Amino acid sequence: MLNHTAERFADRYSRQIRFAPIGQEGQRKLLNSTALIVGCGALGASLAQHLTRAGVGRLRIADRDYVEPSNLQRQVLFHEADALAALPKAVAAAEKLRGMNSGIHIDAFVTDVNRHTLGPLIEGADIVLDGTDNAATRLLLSDACYERGIPFIYGGVTGAEGMSAVLVPGETACLRCLIGDEEAGGDGESCDTAGVLSAAVEFTASLQAIESVKYLTGNRSALRGSWVAADLWRFSLRELQLPKPSESCSHCGTTPAETSIHVGGPSYPVTLCGRDTVQVTLDEPLELDRMREWFSRLGCEVVSNRYLMKAMLSPDHRFVLFPDGRILVQGTSDPEEAMRLCRRLLPAGALR
Ligand SMILES: [Zn+2]
Repeated sequence: MLNHTAERFADRYSRQIRFAPIGQEGQRKLLNSTALIVGCGALGASLAQHLTRAGVGRLRIADRDYVEPSNLQRQVLFHEADALAALPKAVAAAEKLRGMNSGIHIDAFVTDVNRHTLGPLIEGADIVLDGTDNAATRLLLSDACYERGIPFIYGGVTGAEGMSAVLVPGETACLRCLIGDEEAGGDGESCDTAGVLSAAVEFTASLQAIESVKYLTGNRSALRGSWVAADLWRFSLRELQLPKPSESCSHCGTTPAETSIHVGGPSYPVTLCGRDTVQVTLDEPLELDRMREWFSRLGCEVVSNRYLMKAMLSPDHRFVLFPDGRILVQGTSDPEEAMRLCRRLLPAGALR
């Protein structure tokens, strides 16, 4: 295990320290920083690798999903063995990252990031990086960052196109002002319909990572301050100056927030982007041992590890159950159908 003795520190990060705007002082700031990466799919895995190698001292990685073979084409931290073992992405990622840099602290959270779970994850973070795949979570993160004065490093990729922006409370408008509330309802074109290329992911993650390093090393005046959208297939690059905070916005401006009406309870089903999957969250945690018994008795093939349990309901449908009470219903993108399957197949009383 490598230690951060002065000598090793200087050697490990020597090429970064020699880069004048970072230097010893910047490197020390990185090691004293805490970054939260939400979503550890394509963007998140790449972001996590950049920050780990750069030496960000404390990394928190949160993801609700597990590794599948279709991820391997672009999610750089995962191996075939991770998909075979159905490891949660946060866990599989943390394991690889610890092998890259044992001198930093990495926490993996296998959880859905929502308004109920975000609080402790974001507490004490210096920066939040967007590795998510949906507008609803991005808006939640933007709102939370602006409430706490934390920069939000937005990124998104579809096909061969990527876009990114650094949203800084007090300096730039928030994501809600840039993409609008209605985006939360539907994401338009997704990687489901347009596919996604690995090189476009890396390009976008690089845009996010470099701005994060600027911010965390105290080079705030070097922040790009723009919204960049690139099409790497045709090669075109568009850059728009980010607007200032909007007076009339209750998140980035000075208008007080209206009391928001929360839609649905915790078990409200959510369709996951590009996955033919609906996530249902129960009020209660799930006991995986009990569930394994239950679904075996129903005659379902069951695969499990210490983090999750998969039950093959039919050739087309399966449940993936997590101890935190979440169920991924795979094989449908229809919330109604997912709820029907849950009602029919879960033990009585599991779904309140
Ligand atoms: Zn705003």
